[in-house]
Amino acid sequence: MQKPEKLICAGCTLLCDDIEIDSRADQWRPKNTCALGSQYFAQPCCPTQTHFVDGAVATLDQAVQAASQLLRQAKSPLICGLDHLSTEAQQASWKIADITKATIDTTLTNHGRSSIFSLQKIGKVTATLGEIKSRSDLIVFWFCDPETTHPRLLERIKSRDTDRSQRILVVGDRETATTKIANRFIHVPAESASELLGRVRTQLALQSNSQTSESQTDASTAIENTANELTKELVEAKYGSIFFEQIIENSRFDLAGDSISRLIRSLNDITRFVSLKLRSDNNAQSAENVLAWSSGFPFAVNHNLGHPRQHGLEFSAESMLRNQQCDVILFASNLSGDEVLERLSEPARTHLQTIPRIAFSTQAIEANVQFQMGIPGINAAGEHCRIDNVSMPLKKAKPNDWISTEAILEMIRQDLTAQS
Ligand code: SF4
Repeated sequence: MQKPEKLICAGCTLLCDDIEIDSRADQWRPKNTCALGSQYFAQPCCPTQTHFVDGAVATLDQAVQAASQLLRQAKSPLICGLDHLSTEAQQASWKIADITKATIDTTLTNHGRSSIFSLQKIGKVTATLGEIKSRSDLIVFWFCDPETTHPRLLERIKSRDTDRSQRILVVGDRETATTKIANRFIHVPAESASELLGRVRTQLALQSNSQTSESQTDASTAIENTANELTKELVEAKYGSIFFEQIIENSRFDLAGDSISRLIRSLNDITRFVSLKLRSDNNAQSAENVLAWSSGFPFAVNHNLGHPRQHGLEFSAESMLRNQQCDVILFASNLSGDEVLERLSEPARTHLQTIPRIAFSTQAIEANVQFQMGIPGINAAGEHCRIDNVSMPLKKAKPNDWISTEAILEMIRQDLTAQS
């Protein structure tokens, strides 16, 4: 009997790759998904691919020509929303940005950007899920609840070797689904989290210099006691892993992320530790990789002078829109039009509505040219980046003859090149 084909779920950035479709069921139903994954596969998808120009149904060729004309006429195009695209489509977007002297950014908003600044400042020591599973004897969840956000994470990293001990420690300010299955829960008020990290790092520095920690004789405060307990747990591990949540606010600084990266460095002076961020921003990690390989900069890259430039968030999609520095936008999104607008500031939103828009979207959205794209892993295929930066090839769970977003972008690029 032929083995059922395994599919990948894109319901969260864990990209579980053991999903099967139960063809015997009365209704199309995926197997091995968690509740979040089942919800992802249950979302409605269009039976046919339709493209629009100025609100009217158009052929693909007409839509491609309309899009390339808008890009050709523009002085300063903006290409963004790469986090909703496959790696191949992100690469095709980059090529269009290069030839149109456009600004290209990974996402539409400035929210959730702090992780990349943190990486640039401090770097990271990390590992794949496979390495964590086979080597980690201590797994720490720092102020996060993967049982809710990435429900099959523990199943993926928990060792099946019964002879090997593997402890799960949760540090957080409230009981969650993850604290219920942990070996230990250390309760810390959210406002004391960075102080706790600082105290643990001080103790580690003293230990690696073989000095006695004064805190052993002065463990008067609750936070100092907690720091003592946590340090003990951490240094006793032979190979520890710390998972933490991505900051999604509009902030340039991710103090928790920075402190954890510094803590991992200090821990590696004594034992072996890695960290992994529980990203929740679709395929943004791949978008950052594509832009970094192609331009040397991982986000918000401007080509106006004929070569790639980057200056913090000066050329981010939000800044370009807010400062009215772009005159056409090409973006991809699996959000509704209202959700897209909600993610922008008021001035950026106003400018977006005044310039020509080319949209690749899974839902009906107001745009001068709209290409319909499939939902990743359901009716669209392509590479996506897993939480640990491993590239995973998503297949179509519902095969169709839709033209891929990558192919449409390539058609636009060819049209632009042919007309120049
Ligand atoms: S954990 Fe994430 S990727 Fe895995 S099945 Fe659930 S939603 Fe899908």
